Amino acid sequence: MPVRVRFAPSPTGDLHVGGARTALYNFLLARREGGVHILRIEDTDQARNTATALAGISESLRWLGIAWDEGPYYQSRRLPLYREWAARLEKTGRGYWREDPGKGRALVFRLPGGRIEWEDAVHGRIGRDISGDPDLVCVKSDGFPTYNFACVVDDSDLRITHVIRGDDHLSNTPKQIALYEALGEKPPTFAHLPLILNPDGSKMSKDYKKKGQGGKVVEIPTGVLRYRALGYLPEALRNFVALLGWSPGDEREVMTLDEMVAAYSLGRVKSVGGRFDIEKLDWMNGVYLRALPREAFAERARPFVAEAGLDPALLTAEVAGAFQEKIRTLAELPEKARFCLSDAASEDPAAAARHLTPAAASALREVAAALGGVGTPFTAEAVGAAVGPVAERHGGLKAVGQAIRVAVTGSAASPEIFLTIALVGRERAIARLRAAAERIERNGGTGGARA
Ligand code: GLU
Repeated sequence: MPVRVRFAPSPTGDLHVGGARTALYNFLLARREGGVHILRIEDTDQARNTATALAGISESLRWLGIAWDEGPYYQSRRLPLYREWAARLEKTGRGYWREDPGKGRALVFRLPGGRIEWEDAVHGRIGRDISGDPDLVCVKSDGFPTYNFACVVDDSDLRITHVIRGDDHLSNTPKQIALYEALGEKPPTFAHLPLILNPDGSKMSKDYKKKGQGGKVVEIPTGVLRYRALGYLPEALRNFVALLGWSPGDEREVMTLDEMVAAYSLGRVKSVGGRFDIEKLDWMNGVYLRALPREAFAERARPFVAEAGLDPALLTAEVAGAFQEKIRTLAELPEKARFCLSDAASEDPAAAARHLTPAAASALREVAAALGGVGTPFTAEAVGAAVGPVAERHGGLKAVGQAIRVAVTGSAASPEIFLTIALVGRERAIARLRAAAERIERNGGTGGARA
C-alpha cells in the first residue's frame, strides 16, 4: 500500500517549532517511501480560526522547504462528507442524537468500555482504558464536526496510512480507534512524537526566556517565522528541528534534505523528548552560513541590512565575505559591517576619545595621502603596501592602527585594518581619515570626540 501521510494543522496561531517538526517528519517519511504528503487544514473551530494564522502556516512551510503533494484540504469545505459519515455512524447503532438544551441536537458516539491498545511506531505497544470516558460528540449542534470525528473521517476518506502527530494527542487515539472500528474502517499506523522540551525540561509551549548557565539570558521563540526574523537560515532550522527527536543512527548532524530522506525511518524516532538547545542551533546556522557562496550569502543578508536602515546595495559579495566567518545569524551582520554599509558617519565616542589623539592627526593625513596613490583594484594587499610604511614612520600599527580604524570605521573593532580600509573603499576611507584629522586639529589638540 503506498504511504499516504498528512500534516493537519489548525489555523489558530503561528506555526510552532513542534508543528514544523511534525510536518517535516511526515514529509520525510513520504519522500523516503515514495509516498504522498497531504496538507489538511483543520478549520472547524469557527471561533478560533484566523486568516492570518492560515497564511502564516503555509508561509512557514514554504520557507522551510516542506512541500506537500496533495491539498490543502479544508475541513470547513467538506461538511457534506462529514454528514454522510454521520449517517453511517448512526446506522451502525453506535451513534445517537442528543438534545443540547437551548442549542440543538448533537450526534454522539457511544464509546465501548475497556482497554484499547495499539502498536505505536514510536512508543511500541501502548493503550488506555477508556471505560470512564464520556461518550464522544461527533457532530456539534451547529452542524460542524468535532476534531476527533472529522479526523477519523478524513483519515479514512484520504486513505491515510500513517498518522504522525504530537504526543499531546495520545489521549484521543483510543477513542479514534474505537470510532474506526465502529465505522468498519481499518485504523492507520500511529506514530506519536514526544513533545519538544525547553532547556530546563519544561514543555516548549510558549516563548521561553530564562537565565541559563553563567547568568546569560536564554530566549527561545516558539514560532517558526520568528527564526526567519532573527536571521536563521531555513535549511539550518530544518536540519536542527529534524534532530529534535530523530537521529540517522550515526554521528552525522549536518545533513542535506536528501541525506535526511535517505536515512529516515519512524523506527529511529526517539520516544523521549529532546531539549531545544539554541546554542546548537546557532552553531548549526553558522555552519550553513559559512557554506554559502559569498554572493549567495550577501543575497540572504541584504534584507537584514535594509531592515537595519543601511544600504543593501553597499553589501557587495566582497564586503559580505569579510564577515561570513564572524557571525552566527544574519541579523548580526548589519552592526558588524555598519562602517561599510552607510555613508553617514557614526562614531563610538569612547573609542574616538581614546584613539583620535593630537599625536594621531598627522599620521591620519599621511595615510589619506598614501591611499590617494593606490590604484585599482583597491585590495587589502595594495592598501598594506601603501599604508604600511606610513604606519612604520609613526611608531608602527601598534601605535596608530587603532586611530586609523576609528577614523575609518567609527569603532574600535573591525576586521584586519588593511582589509577594513579596502572594504570601505578609497574615496570614503580618504574622506573619513581627513575628517577625523580635521576634527582633532580643530579641537586644538584636545581629542577628536569632544567636538
Ligand atoms: N489539528 C490537530 C492539531 O493541530 C491535528 C492532530 C492530528 O494530526 O490528528 O493538533
